Amino acid sequence: MPAPENPAARKIYDLERSRVFHSWSAQAAVDPLVITDARGSRVVDGDGRSYLDFSSQLVFTNIGHQHPRVVAAIAEQAQRLCTIAPSHANEARARAAELITELAPDGFEKVFFTNAGADAVEHAIRMARLHTGRYKTLSAFRGYHGGTAEAVNLTGDPRRWPNDYGTAGSVHFFAPFLYRSQFHAETEAQECERALAHLESLIAFEGPDAFAAIILESIPGTAGIMVPPPGYLDGVRALCDRYGIVMILDEVMAGFGRTGRWLALDNFGVQPDLITFAKGVTSGYIPLGGVIISDAIAESFATTPYPGGLTYSGHPLACATAVATIETMQDEGIVENAAAIGADVLGPGLADLARRHPVIGEVRGLGVFWALELVADPTTREPLAPYGASSPEMAAIAARAKADGLLLFQNMNRFHLCPPCTVDAADTKEALQILDDALSVV
Ligand code: PMP
Repeated sequence: MPAPENPAARKIYDLERSRVFHSWSAQAAVDPLVITDARGSRVVDGDGRSYLDFSSQLVFTNIGHQHPRVVAAIAEQAQRLCTIAPSHANEARARAAELITELAPDGFEKVFFTNAGADAVEHAIRMARLHTGRYKTLSAFRGYHGGTAEAVNLTGDPRRWPNDYGTAGSVHFFAPFLYRSQFHAETEAQECERALAHLESLIAFEGPDAFAAIILESIPGTAGIMVPPPGYLDGVRALCDRYGIVMILDEVMAGFGRTGRWLALDNFGVQPDLITFAKGVTSGYIPLGGVIISDAIAESFATTPYPGGLTYSGHPLACATAVATIETMQDEGIVENAAAIGADVLGPGLADLARRHPVIGEVRGLGVFWALELVADPTTREPLAPYGASSPEMAAIAARAKADGLLLFQNMNRFHLCPPCTVDAADTKEALQILDDALSVV
């Protein structure tokens, strides 16, 4: 993308490149889009060009950009009380905890608030270790849990490699992914059964009394939106019960409406022990994350102190944002909208693209949470970019989509279509048309 022409936007662009150290990037290659305005499903760049934001940034603006009710709630809370320490009580925090636990399955009555997703994961693992008195962890190769020390170590993708501190007891496993089955499975039922057998073997060989926790995303997001086959999460639950392992479901990306249900785990009726969340809880307007804690685990810390905390745990501005976000989503039927758009427009539209573009190997997803798996060859399923990298073809498709006004979330050989849960049918159809044209460049 060329640098902005507008002098004010150009100044921002130059400062970002010269003074801001950017995440996950070679600094000399940083080439950010300057965003000056955003509303609903659209953002506007420094030269006044409008884009459909089907990335939801990093899959967090579930309520869309600048929802007036949430903006007003932030302003109101800022006028009333910007901040207090975690040790004091506050209406915004108490109400946020009440709303969040009401959305969780029965048997979850407490929330520990963090600043974002990775620290929620850190604390969930710490709670599991203290609760069980064990230290080993299980996590999926095709999973992402954050950029802090423990969270990146639990992450399965190549971002772990340069960050590997040799943490003892961190064991990775293959979760089900039929399209690229590690188990030579041909049906979902086989994939499910063999993935569970593989997991149980790891537990047996690593020590049946060794594991504190297994962490997995209810639906892996960054790794490619692989909706688990029926019975998989129930099977993991059964293994956790058999071997005394704490089951942590990471809902940071998939939670708060993205799948057309409040929590992604609602799609499977499974009961974990700890649930991590962030992103959609405030739509990222003010950062907030946390751990929803089952009563059995909370009980471990009823008389024994929990040895962990954060200066800003349950920050009033963030909690007021969560309250406004959740109440607005409830009042406006926004989760139901995500389900309907997925079932009626986005899912069928992507399936139609897959029929016409052989470069699409597979379409996966639900709600407003979809991935296109792109392949160089539909027969061999050779990915359009190597594992851990992009490719000129992927870059060309993304560049064309962007030039035509569509922002996508890209990872390796995949494009993810994750618009806000508020997206309407007209914007979804427009995005599908732009994508159709962009896919034609390869
Ligand atoms: N868990 C999951 C499932 C995520 O998708 C992410 C972020 N993409 C994280 C944890 C980490 O969250 P954060 O970047 O807010 O620390």
